[in-house]
Amino acid sequence: MKSVAIVGASLAGAKAAEALRDEGFDGQIRLIGAETELPYERPPLSKGYLTGTADRDSVFVKSADWYDTAKIELELGTEVRAIERDGHRLLLDAGRTVEYDKLLLTTGSQVRKLDVLGGDLDGVHYLRTLADSDSLRESIANSRSIVIIGAGWIGLEVAAAARAADVAVTMVDPATLPLVRVLGSEVAEMFAALHRSHGVDLRLEMGVSELVGDGTRVSGVRLTDGTVVDADAVVVGVGITPRTQLADECGLVVDNGVMVDESLKCSDPDIFAAGDVANAFHTFYGTHVRLEHWANALNQPKVAAQSMLGKSVSYDRLPYFFSDQYDLGLEYTGYVSGNAYDEVVFRGDKDSFEFIAFWCREKRVLAGINVNVWDVTESIKTLIKSRQAVDPKRLADPAIGLDELI
Ligand SMILES: Cc1cc2nc3c(=O)[nH]c(=O)nc-3n(C[C@H](O)[C@H](O)[C@H](O)COP(=O)(O)OP(=O)(O)OC[C@H]3O[C@@H](n4cnc5c(N)ncnc54)[C@H](O)[C@@H]3O)c2cc1C
Repeated sequence: MKSVAIVGASLAGAKAAEALRDEGFDGQIRLIGAETELPYERPPLSKGYLTGTADRDSVFVKSADWYDTAKIELELGTEVRAIERDGHRLLLDAGRTVEYDKLLLTTGSQVRKLDVLGGDLDGVHYLRTLADSDSLRESIANSRSIVIIGAGWIGLEVAAAARAADVAVTMVDPATLPLVRVLGSEVAEMFAALHRSHGVDLRLEMGVSELVGDGTRVSGVRLTDGTVVDADAVVVGVGITPRTQLADECGLVVDNGVMVDESLKCSDPDIFAAGDVANAFHTFYGTHVRLEHWANALNQPKVAAQSMLGKSVSYDRLPYFFSDQYDLGLEYTGYVSGNAYDEVVFRGDKDSFEFIAFWCREKRVLAGINVNVWDVTESIKTLIKSRQAVDPKRLADPAIGLDELI
C-alpha cells in the first residue's frame, strides 16, 4: 500500500492519520475535509467553548505544525463529491481527482433539520460546527429568552450554558421526559428535576407547529397546543443522521451508517469507515452498533489504521460517553438496545444528583451511568464484560466495592 485517503477531517479522520504514522506507515496520507478549520473536537462546542471558559485553541485535535511534521497532506475546505471504486479515485469539488490504495470514510454526522414553517428565520440555531457555536454564543449573550427544541444531550447542555448566562430557557419535546428514549424513565426523571431546579421551563409531551417572526427574524415558537412562547433565539437539537451519501452513491452497503465488519472494513475490501458514520459489527454484542460518541471517534481510527495495514484486528471497546450540565458531570458505559433491561439499580441517592445507576437484565449489568461519582468506569466495564449475575442488593450497596461484586 502506497497511499491512503481519508475523507472527513474531524476527530476520527485526524486520529486515523496519526495512527497510520504511529503504526509505521510512511506512504502518502491525504486528509480531506469540507470544513475550513483544522480538525477539532466537538464536545466543547456545547460546553466550555460555548460558555467561554475554554478558548479556541483548546478544541483542535492537533496543531497545524503537527500535520506538516507528520507529512499529512491536509486538504481543508474541500468536499469529496464521489468515489470511483473501480479506478480507486475520488472526485473533489474543484474538478480534481485523487487516487488511493485504501480509503477511510470518517464523514461523521449531519444535523436533522426541523421541517416547520419559519424554520429558516434568522435566530434559529443548530449546533454541529465551531461556527455554529460562535454564532450561538453571540445569540445567548444578546438574548433574554431562548426556546430549545429537543431535550436530548445537545439541548440539555445548551440549556445549562444559557442558564449560566441568566437567559430564560423554555425546552420543548414530544417525549414524556428528557432523554427518555436513551435512558428510560428511571434515570431520565433526574434530568427533568435537574433542569427544573435551574429554572428551565420544560414543556414535555409537546410538539412545535411553527416558528413565528417578522418574516426575517424569529420571535417565538408556536406549540401544538396553540401557545406561543416568545424567544429572542431558538435552538434546534432534534438529532443527527450519519453522512452516508458518498458511500450510498458508490454502492457500498449502507444501513443506518456505512456497514463495516469488526475490523471496520466496508463491503469493498479497500474501503473502511470509522467514527459516527460507521455501523460496525461489535463482537461483544454480536450485532452492528453505530455510536455518535466522542470516545468512539477517538478510538476506532487506530483499529481502522491497523486494519488498512493488513493486521487482523477487531474493535471491541464498550461504548462510552460523557456529558456536563451545570455542576453535574456524568459518564455512561455500555449499551442497552431499546427497553431490553428489566431493572434499574441505584447505588447512591438520585435526588442528590450523586449516584451510579445500572441497567440490568436477569441480574446481569448491561450499562452503567455514574453521575458526579468518578473513577468507576473500568469497574463498570468489568461488570458488564463478565456477564455474571449480580445480587441487586449488593449492587446497590455503596459499602461494597464494585470490584468485589464478581
Ligand atoms: C455540540 C456537540 C457536543 C458533543 N458532545 C459530546 C459529549 O459530550 N460526549 C460525547 O461522547 N460525544 C459528544 N459529541 C459527539 C462527538 O463530537 C462526535 O461523536 C464526533 O464529533 C464524531 O466525530 P467524527 O470524526 O466521526 O465525525 P464528525 O465530527 O461529524 O466529522 C465529520 C467531518 O467530515 C466532513 N465531511 C463529511 N462529508 C464530507 C465530504 N464528502 N467531503 C469532505 N469532508 C466531508 C465534515 O465536514 C466533518 O468535518 C458532541 C457533538 C456535538 C456536535
